[in-house]
Amino acid sequence: MEKDCADEKMKEPETSDARLRAQKSRLAKTLRSVREVNAALEEALADCSRKRMHADLLSMELEQVFNCCTDPMWVVREDGAVVRINKAMADLLGRSREEVVGNSCVDVLGEHCSPDGACPVKSCKRAGMLHTYEVNRPFASGGSRYFLVSTASLMTIDGLSGFVAQYKDITPQKQAKQIMEQANAELERLAGIDGLTGVSNRRTFDNALREEWNRLSREKRNLSVVLCDIDHFKGYNDTLGHQSGDDCLRKVARALEASCGRPADLVARYGGEEFVFLLPETPPEGGMRVAEAAREKVAGLALHHPRSPVCAYVTMSFGVAGAVCRPEDCPDALLEKADVGLYQAKKQGRNRVCAA
Ligand code: GH3
Ligand code: MG
Ligand code: MG
Repeated sequence: MEKDCADEKMKEPETSDARLRAQKSRLAKTLRSVREVNAALEEALADCSRKRMHADLLSMELEQVFNCCTDPMWVVREDGAVVRINKAMADLLGRSREEVVGNSCVDVLGEHCSPDGACPVKSCKRAGMLHTYEVNRPFASGGSRYFLVSTASLMTIDGLSGFVAQYKDITPQKQAKQIMEQANAELERLAGIDGLTGVSNRRTFDNALREEWNRLSREKRNLSVVLCDIDHFKGYNDTLGHQSGDDCLRKVARALEASCGRPADLVARYGGEEFVFLLPETPPEGGMRVAEAAREKVAGLALHHPRSPVCAYVTMSFGVAGAVCRPEDCPDALLEKADVGLYQAKKQGRNRVCAA
């Protein structure tokens, strides 16, 4: 028994030493792991910091690019909140960034972003990312300008979908187009007018005759045509000169125009000293009345004609033809009939109205 106790005492220091050594070894191991974890953490932290710095630089660069752009631009979230605007956009809106960012784009603009009221995010999705439209926006400093707005969908900084919109000022192009259209319209108008007398020319008459014939044919309605010609105009020109002849033509044209009262009536110079009336919705009797009124008006001008065997003044002869328009008939036949009437008027002594 005593021997056993002594054995125990002999063993104890040995076990405690071993335990200590084991403990020390475990501690050393833990310390190594802690150091390793610590080093890894420091590396991760440094990496994070590098990435953060890179992200900050990227953001700064993006902000600079955004601000360098002379076209107004903004980023708007799907819920309408403005996320980012550049200086040009702030200038366009006449507001500071702080007044705009975070607010609803509709409130800031005072209207929907696009003319159809559709959210550009949806339109971008429909159009396959990019969607463009034109708007006319009032400028804060006054006046208004046309913009071509290009929108593209993107993910905003808070991970929600949104769009970036770029406003390209297209006012100069719009103005140039407008001027061009006005010039073309004026050219078109001038191309349809007789340069000497200011009434419509033959081209306008031919087009109008075809159009009216087609229109009136659909409802089988009346159309009258009056051909008229100045009597013995050669003698007038030969004695008074070409200038006086031109003057006479201008005055006669005005008198003829004044003889028909309906907006749809048309007077055109058919060629030389010959004129033509196109009288839609007018039966032959109505055509005769207009022709008679015109004959009196021209005679009433009392333009002295030194060589006319008919009258001391300039007179005209008129041929009238009227018809109910039918698709199977030809409008040229109407003109031919009016010409026959004019020939009869000349033959019967001039200064008169004849129906074929
Ligand atoms: P009629 O009564 O049979 O119509 O005889 P007219 O002398 O009027 O007819 P004619 O065809 O023999 O002569 C037409 C003249 O009209 C010829 C020309 O002197 C004149 N004339 C045609 N066009 C113009 C024009 O643009 N300006 C001027 N000043 N004269 C023109
Ligand atoms: Mg004549
Ligand atoms: Mg003639």
